[in-house]
Amino acid sequence: MDLGIKGKRAIVCAASKGLGYGCAEALAQAGVDLVINARSDGPLQEAAERLRGFGVKVTAVAADISTAEGQAAVLAAADGSVDILVNNAGGPPPGMWSDWDRDDFIKALDSNMLAPIAMMKACLPAMMEKGWGRVVNITSQSVKSPIPVLGLSNSARAGLTGYVAGTSRQVAPSGVTINNMQPGIHATDRAVSLDGGAAAAQGISVEEAKVQRCETIPARRYGTSAEFGAMCAFLCSQHAGFIVGQNILLDGGAVNSTM
Ligand code: NAP
Repeated sequence: MDLGIKGKRAIVCAASKGLGYGCAEALAQAGVDLVINARSDGPLQEAAERLRGFGVKVTAVAADISTAEGQAAVLAAADGSVDILVNNAGGPPPGMWSDWDRDDFIKALDSNMLAPIAMMKACLPAMMEKGWGRVVNITSQSVKSPIPVLGLSNSARAGLTGYVAGTSRQVAPSGVTINNMQPGIHATDRAVSLDGGAAAAQGISVEEAKVQRCETIPARRYGTSAEFGAMCAFLCSQHAGFIVGQNILLDGGAVNSTM
């Protein structure tokens, strides 16, 4: 399917690997020029080089997207011309409800709620002026079905989801869509790190922890970054202009609900 977005320009935050990279790759395959970001320059430059293999222009900005300086650097690289914005950042650490103090919450909010909101506030006016734009936020299945050990994530992402619910309806008349993608378990470094935590807590191997988690997923496997990226590219396509303010769950059926 021709997604109809060849020649457009996207910012994909936190995209040197994992789900962000999957989104960047699918957009590159659709002919979209990219500004990609991550904190560590080496892996980011390697990712940019791979993406240039699809024949698109790629600018790599090593910066922490949870900071105002990082956001400014990424926006400056896009030079005011952004058609597509994919918001992403690393997830907060797991723990118990009683573990976190105010600073922990502020850190999680900066990464997973306030950074995407700041990036949207910066990019939406020009999109609305042009009468076309696409925003996709990577959140989590934990917004729909809480993951108890990820209280910081549950909280910050629920806040972003509330903001998107209203804002998406305010910008839709200008031809701009905002939607959230809710990943379940995907085979990325983040998943390996959570498996490592579960393995240590239960005194089992990481592989055993993974098998246990697969048993909780009707599809009996982890999702892939490529599958995730394909959905992101579709939401950014010309065909998705009537999809507004939705939360798309990609979880292999793990969240057990009718709707
Ligand atoms: P990942 O494989 O660990 O990749 C994270 C990417 O984000 C890397 O490129 C990392 O590069 C970059 N990054 C992290 N923090 C950043 C920051 N502050 N500024 C800029 N770049 C940053 O993680 P993932 O699995 O793709 O997860 C992506 C998001 O989806 C996370 O928020 C995660 O919690 C959420 N999620 C993932 C899953 C899953 O199963 N994988 C499930 C639900 C939700 P640097 O480290 O170099 O910055």
